[in-house]
Amino acid sequence: MPSNTRTPAAVPRSRRALLRTAVAGTAAAGAGLTLGSAFPASAAPRDAESAGRVTTPAQALRRLAAGNQRWRTQHQEHPHESAYLRRRLVEGQQPFAVVLGCVDSRVPPELVFDQGLGDLLTVRSAAEVLDEAVLGSIAYGVLELRVPLVLVLAHQSCGAVAAAVHADETGEPLPAHIRYLADQIRPSIDHGQHGDARVDATVSAHVREVRRRLAAEPDLAGKVAAGELAVVAARYELRDQQVRTLS
Ligand SMILES: [Zn+2]
Repeated sequence: MPSNTRTPAAVPRSRRALLRTAVAGTAAAGAGLTLGSAFPASAAPRDAESAGRVTTPAQALRRLAAGNQRWRTQHQEHPHESAYLRRRLVEGQQPFAVVLGCVDSRVPPELVFDQGLGDLLTVRSAAEVLDEAVLGSIAYGVLELRVPLVLVLAHQSCGAVAAAVHADETGEPLPAHIRYLADQIRPSIDHGQHGDARVDATVSAHVREVRRRLAAEPDLAGKVAAGELAVVAARYELRDQQVRTLS
């Protein structure tokens, strides 16, 4: 199991350099489960959970679930913003989850999970589309920072998915770099649905595909097999601000 209790001094020199650079530069899927109900915030004392080290995928999911519950019930704690913590984080970071989310302005991971500085390594691309930079960023969190959870977070009414569906239906050309996004989403388009339902079904199909591709990455797959890492797909619903995991 990865140890998040190691001190910066115990980390090999090359990794210390990476950690410093990151600080200076910074920035078991649950089948149909709702984060909140699958891992109720009451299952662990909030203070202990917040203060304790997170070393397992289950702990990380529980902490995200508790934070999302605070967010959607308007009981945010806005944790880990203190002057003391800001000073401590100069020494390094030990985020407990990687969240790959969409660029959508309505779904900032730190807000919807009520997390603070040093908690989440966030990677964002339109519709969570993968490319080499995204893959490298996630690998950095998992392999160098030993984060035990990668959560791929899609959301209701994703504009990038809607654009990909529209382009597929009409054949209208897209600008070059947006075309890349659409090309990545197109294989997941659900042609069994129509209109808004097609976009919504494609949001879920696409995030499942991104999760599948990530979990198949050799470096990550080894950690998943060892129980050290979970790669989980989830959706955020704008209407109730709840995150639900997808099987
Ligand atoms: Zn989106």
